[in-house]
Formats: sequence, structure tokens, C-alpha cells
Amino acid sequence: MTYSYVSHLYCPKCEKMYSTKNQNQLCECGSPLLVSYKMDELKEVFRPENLNGRSADLWRYHEILPVESEENVVSLGEGMTPIVKMEKIGHDMKIPNLYMKDEGLIPSGSFKSRGAAVGVSKAKELGVTELAMPTNGNAGAAWSLYSSRAGIKSTIVMPVDAPEITRKECMAAGANLFLVNGLIGDAGQIVARAVKDEGMFDASTLKEPYRIEGKKTMGLEIAEQFNWEVPDVILYPTGGGVGLIGIYKALRELQELGWIDADKMPRLVAVQSEGCAPIVKAWEEGKTHAEPWKDASTIAFGINVAKALGDFLILEGIRETNGCAISVSEESIMTELRAVSSMEGAYVCPEGAAAFAAARQLREQEWINDDDRVVVLNTGAGIKYPNTIQGDVVTLEPGDSVPKTKESVQ
Ligand SMILES: *Cc1c(COP(=O)(O)O)cnc(C)c1O
Ligand SMILES: [Zn+2]
Repeated sequence: MTYSYVSHLYCPKCEKMYSTKNQNQLCECGSPLLVSYKMDELKEVFRPENLNGRSADLWRYHEILPVESEENVVSLGEGMTPIVKMEKIGHDMKIPNLYMKDEGLIPSGSFKSRGAAVGVSKAKELGVTELAMPTNGNAGAAWSLYSSRAGIKSTIVMPVDAPEITRKECMAAGANLFLVNGLIGDAGQIVARAVKDEGMFDASTLKEPYRIEGKKTMGLEIAEQFNWEVPDVILYPTGGGVGLIGIYKALRELQELGWIDADKMPRLVAVQSEGCAPIVKAWEEGKTHAEPWKDASTIAFGINVAKALGDFLILEGIRETNGCAISVSEESIMTELRAVSSMEGAYVCPEGAAAFAAARQLREQEWINDDDRVVVLNTGAGIKYPNTIQGDVVTLEPGDSVPKTKESVQ
């Protein structure tokens, strides 16, 4: 039995092809590389029924993942996160069929573990012993943890403002961690130098081709969980955009396999904050590439990416699915975070809250219709960001009774 039907790497810009047997980074032309599979062969032998009885993690899709030998799989059981109906907040937004795919339940508390599981497994398969990456926090946490499990050394550089817990995760993993007084782009330059000088493998977003294959499994799962009838709209908080590019790639592959309707794509929505919205600006101006965003800043730190290497792929995914890009205010992120937590009991991360806020806005604009089935990706656990909820709590002495008028928690 063939574990993976991986074929080769190709460049979406200049179409040059590369072998998956070597450690590849970007194409010579500077574009990210994408993974191609032997779809004609696979179409003949691979059916949804083949998934029956397989483990409830992302490796159930191993035929369309790039790791060739099962021995190289480095897994903590990531994937198959729940899709939860959001009745109350859906009613509040006038979207009766609103769902959340909750990526907060993944090891390390964010969907970055999907990219890390597949990326690190493939790195192991290719003989990588030491890797380096810039991060806004969650990716560094995930990659350093999976690297430890794989026996690979990791060097991680993140902004001083990145969520503090992600620092601790890297330290716990035994990573070689550095903070930078700057943004993720500054961390990227430092990593680029380390890669050049020290010969480490560059695991930066889209500079290695396999992270996207891990993130694409969100798209595979959404299709499977909706019984191969894809929803109408998927909202995704977009930083580097790997998740969106991955979901689009997954759905295209499922169409090729004939598992989902070739004529129906969910409209993909790239959600950003008004404090950092390069993709939205490019989308509104009808451009194919985005300009770097100046003075990028948002509480939704995972999407604080001023310049995305895969900008043209994000914009293509939106365009090809009749989707859109939209930015939401910092205030609406916080309001929505509280609304989702208090109405639904789901303490979402600020990035996820941004996507909920965008759903509300798009419904108000009637871009989302009332009978649309809408999926919001909550990309991480709210508990990774303890400071998003502030307020005073009354402290009682032993023997005190609870005060009559409740003044607690705001
Ligand atoms: C990284 C991250 C994002 C954005 O993911 P990209 O693939 O870079 O677009 C969104 N939410 C959270 C919680 C993240 O950590
Ligand atoms: Zn190229």
C-alpha cells in the first residue's frame, strides 16, 4: 500500500518543477513552492469509504499528504477538531446556520500544530537536523514542540510583543529562543541571516513547502464533517494566509478526486484587522499582490503580518471562489470575543473573534445571505491570550457571604 501519492513540487508563478526528495525552499524565482500529487492514479483507488475506521487525526488523509513513510510521522494526535453549531450568536447575527471549527482544541492550542506536524515530519524524512523560523508566537511554539518530538533542534525568533505563553512553550520545548524588538518581518531577517551563516533549514512561512499541506487538512476536515457537501462561506483570520491557501488547495484536490461537487466552492473570506490589512487593501484595489502595511498593530497578534510571501495565492483563492477580504476594527474584535464567550461558552482567540466580527459585518452588508451555511475558523484557544479579558473581581474573606447585588466580573 502506498502511504503517500506525492508527486513533485511546482512553482505557481513560473511552473518550474522540483523533486520532493531534496530539501527545497523557495523557487529560484522567489515564489513559494506547492506540492503536487498523482491525482490520476489516486482517483482510481481512493474513496471516502477508505477513511472509515482510520484515526481521528489529520493523518487519516495520508494519501494526499507529503510524508512518504509512515515511520517519519511525528504526531501528537492533531486534527479532526469539532465543528460546533453556534445557535445563539448565529441568531444574534441573523445567520441561522453559523458554525465554528474550533482549532483551540489542538495540541499547543492553535492550528499551527497542523502545519508543524506535517512540516516537521517531512523535515525529518528529508534528514533535517536543525531548523530556524521567525514567528508571531504560535507557530514557534508548535514547531519547537514538534521538533523536540522529532529530535530536531530549533531556533525561534519572535517579537517581544508576541503572546507570552508562546515564549514559555518554546522554552519548555528546549528551543533556542530569541526575542526581537520589532515585528515578525524583523525576526525574518534575523532568521535569514542565521540560515545563511549556520546552514539551518529555513522553516519560515511558505519558505518550506509542507506547512501548507498540514494546514490544508482544515479544508479536508470541513468537507468530510459536512458529509462532502461543502458550506457556502468559510471565514479565516489571515496573516501569512497559509490556512486560506491550504483550504483552497484542499477543496480543489477534493474536486479533482470527485469527492465534492466540481461546481461548488465555498466563498473564502480573508479576515484582517484594521490595524494590519494589506490583503484587504490589495483586494479592494483589485491588485494581485499586496504592499507592505506600515506600523502594523493588532491585538489579534497571529494576523499581524505586514507583508505575506503568499499574498498572490491568497488573493487568487478569494477571487476564484467569489470570496472577499474584509477588515474589522480592534473594538469589534473585543466586543465579539466577549459576545461569543458569554453567549456560547466558547472562549475564542482574538483572531477567531475577528472572523466572527467579519461574519456579522458581511451579514449586515448582505454579502452573507440568511440561508448560507457559514463556517468561522477559531484558529486558537482563548486561554493562550489571558489578557484579552480584564476586570475586577471581588475578593471575599473566609466566612463572608456573597454580596446581594452582584458587582463582580465585567
Ligand atoms: C498564525 C495564526 C493565524 C494566521 O495564520 P496564517 O496562516 O499566517 O494566515 C490566525 N490565528 C492564529 C491564532 C494564528 O496563530
Ligand atoms: Zn518559480
